[in-house]
Amino acid sequence: MKDVIVIGGGLAGLQAAVMTAKAGEETLVLDSGQSLVLNTSNIQNLIGYDSVAGNELLTSGKQKLEEFNGEIANEEVQRLERTDSGLKITTSEADYEAEYVVVASAGDLSFIELDVEFEEGVEGPYMMDKHLVTDDSNKASENVYAAGLANTWEYQSSVAIGDGAKAAVNLLTDKYGEPYEDHDT
Ligand SMILES: Cc1cc2nc3c(=O)[nH]c(=O)nc-3n(C[C@H](O)[C@H](O)[C@H](O)COP(=O)(O)OP(=O)(O)OC[C@H]3O[C@@H](n4cnc5c(N)ncnc54)[C@H](O)[C@@H]3O)c2cc1C
Repeated sequence: MKDVIVIGGGLAGLQAAVMTAKAGEETLVLDSGQSLVLNTSNIQNLIGYDSVAGNELLTSGKQKLEEFNGEIANEEVQRLERTDSGLKITTSEADYEAEYVVVASAGDLSFIELDVEFEEGVEGPYMMDKHLVTDDSNKASENVYAAGLANTWEYQSSVAIGDGAKAAVNLLTDKYGEPYEDHDT
């Protein structure tokens, strides 16, 4: 049983996982390795960078996750369902159980077999067909959060990163029963 499983290791998923791993939660990212930002060489709209390649952001996210003892596995999720003991995630390789799940799989929501709602995406060449409906805390269902393009049409790297952090902070707030503060000195 993992504390947190993040489905999707793109920008939103990695940021969410870094936050939960840093908080000391046993965190596993399951990722099929097809981030939309993988082949983008010149992102100019992120503060902290003049320009950065998508692959560089993904690599640094994975490194940071490992620094905080998080794990990442290259596995495609086939099913997410609720059981009596928690949330069960089935991949091509194995079955996992988690107390909390963050869905950060952008356009692929086909594996979700849960009590959640979906909304249609907006039209556009790179837009996703649908998104999960979430509340103000990124919660889609009990112990299930969504982030990035799985959650919203707002299609920018900076939004995905921020949304991943928001999902994690709210997940941790739910788990600890008080506002979670991640504060480095
Ligand atoms: C060509 C292009 C250029 C872009 N340029 C810019 C730019 O210049 N500036 C900018 O701000 N944004 C840019 N973007 C947008 C940016 O890519 C997205 O906003 C960002 O990647 C969204 O993050 P995300 O985490 O929601 O999705 P992603 O980063 O796509 O991550 C989703 C992850 O989930 C994984 N996944 C999906 N299904 C499963 C499954 N069943 N099991 C396991 N893993 C799964 C995928 O493999 C992927 O790794 C560009 C996008 C494209 C396509």
